[in-house]
Amino acid sequence: MARPARAFKVCLPHPHSTWNARPRGFGDFSIKSGAYGYSTSAPSPATGAVVAGAGPGGITVLGNLLEQSPHLSARKFLWVDPHFEAGRVNSRYREVPSNTNVKLFLQFANEVSAFRDIVDATPKPNAVTALQALPQDKGCRLSYAADMCLMLTEGLAQHPDVKQRRSKIKAAVLDEQSNVWKVTLHNGEKVTTSHLVLCTGSSPISKTIPSLEKISSLSLKPVDLDYALKPTLLDQTLDHREPATVAVIGASHSAILVLMNLVNMASSSHPQLRVKWFTRNKLRYAEFMDGWILRDNTGLKGQAADWARQNLDEETFQSSLVSKIITKHWTTGNEDQVYRAELPDCTHIIQAVGYNRNPLPDLQIVERDTTITKPLHVEFDHVTGRFFKSSDSRSKTDREYVPRLFGAGIAFPERVTDPHGNVEYAVGFWKFMRFAKKVVPEWMSKA
Ligand SMILES: Cc1cc2nc3c(=O)[nH]c(=O)nc-3n(C[C@H](O)[C@H](O)[C@H](O)COP(=O)(O)OP(=O)(O)OC[C@H]3O[C@@H](n4cnc5c(N)ncnc54)[C@H](O)[C@@H]3O)c2cc1C
Repeated sequence: MARPARAFKVCLPHPHSTWNARPRGFGDFSIKSGAYGYSTSAPSPATGAVVAGAGPGGITVLGNLLEQSPHLSARKFLWVDPHFEAGRVNSRYREVPSNTNVKLFLQFANEVSAFRDIVDATPKPNAVTALQALPQDKGCRLSYAADMCLMLTEGLAQHPDVKQRRSKIKAAVLDEQSNVWKVTLHNGEKVTTSHLVLCTGSSPISKTIPSLEKISSLSLKPVDLDYALKPTLLDQTLDHREPATVAVIGASHSAILVLMNLVNMASSSHPQLRVKWFTRNKLRYAEFMDGWILRDNTGLKGQAADWARQNLDEETFQSSLVSKIITKHWTTGNEDQVYRAELPDCTHIIQAVGYNRNPLPDLQIVERDTTITKPLHVEFDHVTGRFFKSSDSRSKTDREYVPRLFGAGIAFPERVTDPHGNVEYAVGFWKFMRFAKKVVPEWMSKA
């Protein structure tokens, strides 16, 4: 995918770095034994935390770790990502209209001192001034938010307490005796740390849904959801000279964005394009209540909601021009039958059926009083941002946390309950920030 030009230069007035980087393994550890060759009696690590991932989630966590720095003995943070290009919001969603208002992105950039320093030090105009120039109570293209993340990333990289590694975390072994994590990167580098934070993100579910797997005769071309969310790529994927019928599965925010993109193409560059939309559920919208938002994380919002109301709702669909391009197919209760009947005359298929966590690094543990390294299976606690051992079968209240392992971002969001008792997972820049502000001080204060 094309790498966007970085338009903004960050010049931070930091004194020169005191970071003691060593070419291989700058954390203090001694090589001895075990799968990753570590000693079980590692001295106190020099690295206060290792953060995996530099998308909006990782940026949020790093900003909050720096906020805690004055209270920490080990203040150096290692930040690991293969690209440092603001994660999916930049690589995949630049052309997507945001489902949050512009002012929330600016609130995010103003929430911790490390970010404020970057914003103050960056020559204007920059990504933040570009956001400031937009209407604040409306959404924007996510390219604006992505540029802001790139600007923050560039600034964080210059912070004297942050060291970047352009790699991925391959494995991490917890020494239960010392509560120290020994982390191995894909580039072979090894480091010890007292805290490991996973902000490794999520990707669209690409596995074919079971009902479709049963229909062996289908020869539909799958179109990646990431492509379908990017009109410039979708345009190249579908041949405008050929008739095409695209099956779209799902009724999520992403599914509606895909329908919008396809309808725009069918009404302009691809007049022979038609769409069959398969959904189990009626559209659900976020609703502004008295000081809170009903279905804040699961309902349609922003441009996608406006478009769906005008074109897809029961009341508007038949009279909308969109019904000339899209046919709706309810799959509730008779999914297999509907797909068997409707899919054979489709040429392409786009599944917009959710997102899954990206694979985690290989987590392992050397249990107390042993030297044997075992696999460590974990389960996320959406309240504290910590992890339980999956093997711990005690009730949630009695279970122990895996020491000093944490998660944030879209893969590890906070669980929230609204005033009506509905439970949701809080996903979005500002929600990551709110969660991090609550939990990061606790992560760093408790062993
Ligand atoms: C279609 C869509 C629209 C959205 N619109 C909005 C919106 O309008 N407003 C809003 O606030 N939010 C929005 N979100 C939600 C959210 O802000 C984004 O999904 C955001 O990209 C999530 O950030 P993240 O850092 O958690 O994950 P990602 O952006 O996926 O970043 C994860 C990073 O981790 C890296 N990584 C993975 N594994 C490793 C490893 N082992 N070691 C080191 N690095 C690793 C990856 O390379 C990547 O850079 C939207 C989400 C979607 C799907």
